[in-house]
Amino acid sequence: MTATAERQKRPHVLIAGAGMGGLTLALALLQKGMDVDIYEQSPELREVGAGLWISANGRRVLDALGLKKTIEAINLPPNDRVVRFWSTGEERSVYNRDTQSSKADHTLVQVLRAELQRVLYEAVVNLKPDAVHFGVRSIGAQTVGDRARLLLEGRDPVEGDVVVGADGSHSRVRQSLFGPAPARYTGAIAWRGLAPMERLKPQHRRALASTWIGPTAHVTTYPVQRGDEQFVSFSGQVDSETWQTESWSEPGDLADALKDFAGWHQDILDLFINAESLYRWGLFVRDPLEAWSKGRATLLGDACHSMTPYLGMGVNVTMEDAYVLARCLDATPGDVESALKRYDAARIERGNRTKAKSLEMHKIFHSPELARIETAIPYIDSQWAPQVMRERYDWLLAYDATTVEI
Ligand SMILES: Cc1cc2nc3c(=O)[nH]c(=O)nc-3n(C[C@H](O)[C@H](O)[C@H](O)COP(=O)(O)OP(=O)(O)OC[C@H]3O[C@@H](n4cnc5c(N)ncnc54)[C@H](O)[C@@H]3O)c2cc1C
Repeated sequence: MTATAERQKRPHVLIAGAGMGGLTLALALLQKGMDVDIYEQSPELREVGAGLWISANGRRVLDALGLKKTIEAINLPPNDRVVRFWSTGEERSVYNRDTQSSKADHTLVQVLRAELQRVLYEAVVNLKPDAVHFGVRSIGAQTVGDRARLLLEGRDPVEGDVVVGADGSHSRVRQSLFGPAPARYTGAIAWRGLAPMERLKPQHRRALASTWIGPTAHVTTYPVQRGDEQFVSFSGQVDSETWQTESWSEPGDLADALKDFAGWHQDILDLFINAESLYRWGLFVRDPLEAWSKGRATLLGDACHSMTPYLGMGVNVTMEDAYVLARCLDATPGDVESALKRYDAARIERGNRTKAKSLEMHKIFHSPELARIETAIPYIDSQWAPQVMRERYDWLLAYDATTVEI
């Protein structure tokens, strides 16, 4: 095909899911001159009350999409990242903006998930006003000749050049391409909530990214903002024999939370007590996939590598997927199947490695050494020393989806 013909044959990409991954991909594709349509099951953008940590690897993608200033406006950055002892609140700095000792950039952007989704959505509809079709559920994907087909519930299928399943951890697109992927309970449940700052004591206003660690649980807390309102976003993981459903929007009871965190510092209990709403769900994992693409259909984000939240990487790695996929489609626009092969080659190992490393963190965060301060101090010194932090995070943070070889 001549260069001119290649340019003319820009693929039309059908995306299942308008979450972080689907919207990031749509924006990258539109900016590169491709057409997209997104099919989202919710009738509107759904507010999931939670914060998100965006690390340097995710931020590079947002910067490349021209969102640097917009993200700065919704960010409440921490000055210091600390680990804290669960019962006394004693703290140890593990990363300070002004004294960082690592070559990799460990700074964090702290945003409300709904704010990031809004920013991405607005950027997409600014380029294509009718790009997102709400209230449309995808149920599978097929390759038919040289076309890709997205199957929709209760409607005729839609056709394009590529289908991307960005439909989260319960992905129907994944299921249709690769069959059922049974979810395994990890032995821990998660709690999350947003506590309005005005209800909290002054110490909660500190610009800190904190991870409180205990023998059978840990809690991550940090401030986030929506306009003039500030909140502390928190997310706690607790070992539990009991299985809960795998859904982030499952409500939880305060009495159960207080049981799970009995003996914890009052600052943590205050977050639960003052939260607008509480959610509780089980943490599940699926076996890693060896392929993400089949024919003219592929996957990204939680659909192909949903992971435990212990490294704070789910959304970051999802945005990497989206940007690399857009680059692959841009590199060989007339040959979608080759583009998807390149995408698999560039991304699967990283996605699966991050997922595996994230799961391993469970035993680091929840350690019997953390039961008593006497054993906790040497444990924290060994597990959160600068050198250990570098080994844990530098390879994740240094990745640049905008320049990595594809
Ligand atoms: C409490 C919590 C805190 C987290 N904190 C962090 C963090 O600090 N840093 C980080 O990097 N990651 C974090 N994560 C993980 C991160 O949120 C996910 O990894 C990320 O959202 C994955 O993006 P995605 O686009 O693949 O899926 P999602 O964002 O889940 O989007 C999937 C979209 O697809 C839609 N959908 C689902 N099924 C269908 C269907 N059949 N048809 C059409 N649409 C469908 C959904 O409605 C949704 O809009 C956190 C997760 C949770 C739960």
